[in-house]
Amino acid sequence: MRLILLGAPGAGKGTQAKRLEQTHGLKQLSTGDMLRAEIKSGSDLGQQVETILAEGNLVSDDIMVEMIAHRIEKPDCKKGFILDGFPRTVAQAQALDIMLKDHKLDLDAVIEIKVDEKALYERIAQRSVDEGGTRADADIETVKHRMKVYNDLTAPIIPYYAAAGLLQTVDGMRPIDEVAMQIDAILDV
Ligand code: AMP
Repeated sequence: MRLILLGAPGAGKGTQAKRLEQTHGLKQLSTGDMLRAEIKSGSDLGQQVETILAEGNLVSDDIMVEMIAHRIEKPDCKKGFILDGFPRTVAQAQALDIMLKDHKLDLDAVIEIKVDEKALYERIAQRSVDEGGTRADADIETVKHRMKVYNDLTAPIIPYYAAAGLLQTVDGMRPIDEVAMQIDAILDV
């Protein structure tokens, strides 16, 4: 099974992706985690993207598409994967379509976890506290900027997948377990 989890920063994509990894044997592919690992390792790529992440902007489509293209070919993705944080632009979504077509693979579903913006600010602020303030992008101005980037650049992929007949929406304002149940109902398990 191949899924995309969509939603604004803090919507709970990572939480649900990690759960699906356990329950469905699907590999979570979090581009945010991959980029943070690059930064931590001090690689060339990490150095290149560090300021971009800290400021809450998007890394270029070329870099991201190449990163995912390599990643989905690895053996741990054979049983399926959950894209968490990718695609984030219509150009990335189009590149993903081509990539999957080349591999003769389909997407099973695109699940949007919908939440309201005010609740998201509270959730992200709480996550920053829980993580000991280690995410440099968690201060409130950056969060607001990330939300604007989401609305301007990422939200347009929602109609893109709706037009493809793949979009499903769950209510991300419900408790984590209920969101999980909504997702499982979509996946029919
Ligand atoms: P996330 O953990 O998914 O919120 O991602 C953290 C940051 O990584 C984002 O704010 C972007 O700077 C960068 N990032 C992650 N995924 C992508 C992507 N698909 N395209 C561009 N930038 C990304």
